Amino acid sequence: MSAILMDGKALAAEIKEHVKEKALAMDPPPALAVVLVGDDPASAIYVKHKEADCAQCGIRCLDHRLAQDTTEAQLLDLVRRLNADPAVDGILVQLPLPAQIRERVVLEAIDPNKDVDAFHPANVGRIMQFAPRFLPCTPAGVMALLERYHVEISGKECVVIGRSNIVGKPMAMLLLAAGGTVTVCHSHTADLAAACRRADILVSAVGKPGLVKADMVKEGAVVVDVAMNRGADGKLCGDCEKAVADKASYLTPVPGGVGPMTRAMLMMNTLTAAARR
Ligand code: NAP
Repeated sequence: MSAILMDGKALAAEIKEHVKEKALAMDPPPALAVVLVGDDPASAIYVKHKEADCAQCGIRCLDHRLAQDTTEAQLLDLVRRLNADPAVDGILVQLPLPAQIRERVVLEAIDPNKDVDAFHPANVGRIMQFAPRFLPCTPAGVMALLERYHVEISGKECVVIGRSNIVGKPMAMLLLAAGGTVTVCHSHTADLAAACRRADILVSAVGKPGLVKADMVKEGAVVVDVAMNRGADGKLCGDCEKAVADKASYLTPVPGGVGPMTRAMLMMNTLTAAARR
């Protein structure tokens, strides 16, 4: 058996088309402020992608580039100005930030109503209470893919590998909210393989190529590979070894699975913020 690949690229294109249609009907159109501090090359690429997505979706992208040696006070000053600016619907501060700036302080300074990444503690708390203001982009992208492929979550054993604030923890919450019985694994998990074998739905968000082996996957399980790694051959790959495709019923490809969905959900969140003006 070979798994059906869950096409995130195609679904993301549909979602972005939907956002565009709604955005074009808004006057003024939705506006997303994107703040990039410093010159981390990976961050610069992510920001470029976000700008391109905005252009595609009819969203105004307000670019703010700050120098590597920007102080925390300077960045906080910008965030406060963006908070107060009625022309700004969403604010995204690209992470990671340079070492002299405390990430937590900056994320907590963003107006929760403009926090399209859903990283502010008030928004994280609402996700915990199953009453989200914004859905966290990567987990929401995973949920949209599962829905598109009619994957039943309620009553299923769901295993999430990874417990980061960005992916693992909010992913677990969304699966729990959808009625899954959720186990969260991490680097201290005593028997990762045994936990994974229980999963009807397995989500891996670690960042280690080959971590998820075929013999850790139950026959017919749905496997979502969130990771984006560079393999030894320099190509993009996830956490799953290739043979996982022979055990899973559905599998997200890397690239072309969760990555494009994350980007599309950011556009959705910006639209949501603008619609609440
Ligand atoms: P992270 O903050 O580094 O978290 C990785 C998690 O994996 C941690 O919770 C860690 O456990 C756990 N872990 C590490 N080694 C493990 C092991 N041997 N067994 C079990 N768990 C282990 O990373 P992240 O930001 O969540 O990202 C995870 C991956 O997803 C990365 O490849 C990243 O590039 C990718 N990503 C993709 C998207 C997308 O749109 N597709 C978006 C975000 C991230 P501890 O907590 O115990 O250290």
